[in-house]
Amino acid sequence: MTPPRKLHIKSYGCQMNVYDAQRMVDTLAGEGFVETAQAEEADLVILNTCHIREKASEKVYSELGRLRVAREEAARQGRDMKIAVAGCVAQAEGEEIIHRAPVVDVVVGPQSYHHLPQLLERASRDGKAIETEFPAADKFGFLPQPKPGAIRARGISAFVTVQEGCDKFCTFCVVPYTRGAEVSRPVDKIVDDVKRLTENGVRELTLIGQNVNAYHGEGPDGKSWPLGKLLQRLAEIPGIARLRYSTSHPRDVDDSLIEAHRDLASLMPFVHLPVQSGSDRMLAAMNRKHTVKDYRDVIERFRNVRQDIAFSSDFIVGFPGESAEDFSATLALVMQIGYAAAYSFKYSPRPGTPAADMRETVSTADMDERLARLQELIDSQQSAFNRAAIGTTVDVLFERPARNPGQIVGRTAWLQPAHVMASPDIIGQVMPVKIESLERYSLLGELAPAATRHRATPASNQISIGA
Ligand code: SAM
Ligand code: SF4
Repeated sequence: MTPPRKLHIKSYGCQMNVYDAQRMVDTLAGEGFVETAQAEEADLVILNTCHIREKASEKVYSELGRLRVAREEAARQGRDMKIAVAGCVAQAEGEEIIHRAPVVDVVVGPQSYHHLPQLLERASRDGKAIETEFPAADKFGFLPQPKPGAIRARGISAFVTVQEGCDKFCTFCVVPYTRGAEVSRPVDKIVDDVKRLTENGVRELTLIGQNVNAYHGEGPDGKSWPLGKLLQRLAEIPGIARLRYSTSHPRDVDDSLIEAHRDLASLMPFVHLPVQSGSDRMLAAMNRKHTVKDYRDVIERFRNVRQDIAFSSDFIVGFPGESAEDFSATLALVMQIGYAAAYSFKYSPRPGTPAADMRETVSTADMDERLARLQELIDSQQSAFNRAAIGTTVDVLFERPARNPGQIVGRTAWLQPAHVMASPDIIGQVMPVKIESLERYSLLGELAPAATRHRATPASNQISIGA
């Protein structure tokens, strides 16, 4: 019997890439590959790349430099190491990658992972293999149907892709070019995947998509189902304790989604709703297709049906033409909303996007200063949100043993890590925890005594931040 070949995948960027990496592992398992954490001992190394900002893209080339050395060492030991670049840099740069880094054997775009075995064969035969076309038809129809048990659960919490691509064309963003047009998977296929995951012990599902609430997959009734209706259906599957979804666009929040938050106890009251800027002038230049008021109204609609709901967001500072007043408007919006967490980025021009040709650039010094001020404000809101949990009893879904011996770690409804001293038997269960203290971003507490256990009231964690 030939020994299994070793596969090492390094993923950069978004949750979609984490999910895709798992799908590549599953596809290559059928070819006799097993995963290794050490790139140096691998027979195949895949870099699953991100093109969203320049820094993310450039990381790939420095990693390829390190892999060139590892490959030379493998060759000295008589081993053949193949190197593949997957993901959005592969899609955007294609053949260019091989010119810049001849060590690469395979370049594969996100729409072609199911062809990896053939591409590896082609690379062995011809030296190099590149595939970055968008398929003419719905990509999901091309994916191999998983055999029973083929979707491997990796713990208590799993991602499921329900939608891919984006038709919004924000002027700064490469996603519509690297991931293609928006496509939704049919409801039945998603239900099948979720059933398999729950049979393997998954209790929490995060539905993912570049623009997940644009979901409009075909339902079993032949009609197009919105995300809210899909969530209602998935909540009926036995074993599902928690549902989440990411990333949403403010414009695509419809009544079905609001109703799902009103009606489903398993739909977590924590929504990632990127706004990018608090200035209408910038939102128009970014082609976000919504105003600041539209965004505030959407937040209000969520809050009207679930008082304990909390929000996170993405912000870009230093978009071309952003004035001091525009930036102040962003700070004002953050103060008004009061976030539990948020990501903020310096604008990075991406080749091929309309914003890359805009001339009114903001100086690096201004960008740095604005980013620091915004991050300081966001950090203070996040700390206030976390501190407000102290003294309350909140539901925690326990996921795994913590680094500290005897401790088990889980997450609250708002994704805060929570640690308790307990037996590992509680892994996979949702239990109320009395929160006693906060250590950096982690909550520490103890299981609520059995006699007083009740469904914890997350509403007690609601805080008011900002104006
Ligand atoms: N679809 C989501 C949305 O519309 O908000 C986000 C997708 S993108 C993968 C994640 C985040 O990266 C964006 O929300 C934005 O804040 C940031 N981003 C995208 N392009 C960027 C750029 N050119 N420069 C800086 N940040 C960028
Ligand atoms: Fe990019 Fe805008 Fe689409 Fe989000 S909505 S993926 S930021 S184009």
